[in-house]
Amino acid sequence: MSRDMMPHFELYQPDTLENAIDLARRIGSGAWFLAGGNDSLDWFKDRHKRPTAVIELSGIKELSGIRETAEGLEIGALTTLTQIERSLIVREKYSLLSTAAGRVASPQIRNAGTLGGNLCQDTRCWYYRYGVSCYRAGGITCYADTPEGQNREHCLFGASRCIAVSPSDTATASVALDAKMVIRGPSGERVVPAEEFFIGPSKDITRMTVLKPDEVLVAVRYPREWAGAKFYFEKVTDRNTWDFALVSVAAAMFVEGDTIKNIRLVCGAVECVPRRLKASEQIAMGKSKNEEVAAQAGKAATEGATALNFNQFKVPLMENLVRRAIRDA
Ligand SMILES: Cc1cc2nc3c(=O)[nH]c(=O)nc-3n(C[C@H](O)[C@H](O)[C@H](O)COP(=O)(O)OP(=O)(O)OC[C@H]3O[C@@H](n4cnc5c(N)ncnc54)[C@H](O)[C@@H]3O)c2cc1C
Ligand code: SF4
Repeated sequence: MSRDMMPHFELYQPDTLENAIDLARRIGSGAWFLAGGNDSLDWFKDRHKRPTAVIELSGIKELSGIRETAEGLEIGALTTLTQIERSLIVREKYSLLSTAAGRVASPQIRNAGTLGGNLCQDTRCWYYRYGVSCYRAGGITCYADTPEGQNREHCLFGASRCIAVSPSDTATASVALDAKMVIRGPSGERVVPAEEFFIGPSKDITRMTVLKPDEVLVAVRYPREWAGAKFYFEKVTDRNTWDFALVSVAAAMFVEGDTIKNIRLVCGAVECVPRRLKASEQIAMGKSKNEEVAAQAGKAATEGATALNFNQFKVPLMENLVRRAIRDA
């Protein structure tokens, strides 16, 4: 097939979730769900992904909207990042998420980009995006993990043939908020904790999430337990305009007096999944929220890190971000 032509695909625009799932089941491996299209259309135009059928989800009303429930807040997967960034209820109760959503890309991308698309997006490894036949693309090598490989954006943890990282800012915040992912497929609905939703290359090198090809992420539930906590989100990038994280941190904590009563700490862009920092959480739990505890938790965050040729800078950066999250939240 010529590279001059975007490959042909059938376009389906179902108005019910059942129809969308049934279409994906019947079409099989050639099907592709489309939300805001920011990531998908890049892939199609670069000719590196060639679905035979695109199933556009935007006509399915139940996938959009922000609803308060007895358990907390439920956000439909088709809700745009701008809607999340501007939502008063999200800003009031889960400002970690509205802040993270507001740090994604540019206003134009946030206007079209959806929560589901942001959470389900593929990795941004330059080699893979360029279309080389690396491990993740079904080949037999990793181009980033060679002596000359350009890997300053790549991982510190969880390498397994592939060293790519999770690029999603809302994923980091969602794991910190202990969100639950509502998934629907041909055999019904399942609810998966955000921490288990994202998967690394040792589990499946061709996917970033547990979603099967005929499953749709319907909504994300943010539990009441973390509403109104103290939050901290910081994302370090090469440029001060839109850019992906070199390292980011999302923290949620409850503090009484100066004692940290409960805490969840997560770093983005250091592993193929958002990395929960349990050792750092344990150090901080029940301790005073001060510089010394923050420094200890920061040190613990990078234990076991394996830097690559060009990303050693991520180790002190991660340590400092965790330290700042505890000190300044
Ligand atoms: C220039 C640029 C800069 C960017 N910077 C950042 C950044 O700083 N931080 C960041 O986090 N992201 C960044 N992104 C990524 C961008 O935010 C995502 O591409 C966007 O959020 C994807 O949302 P979408 O709705 O457009 O998804 P789509 O492109 O429609 O979908 C993306 C993927 O998710 C799947 N999908 C979408 N919705 C569902 C669903 N409900 N169920 C199952 N599968 C689904 C699609 O099949 C596809 O594989 C950037 C992108 C660009 C182009
Ligand atoms: S890091 Fe992963 S995605 Fe990038 S070249 Fe290596 S195998 Fe491919």
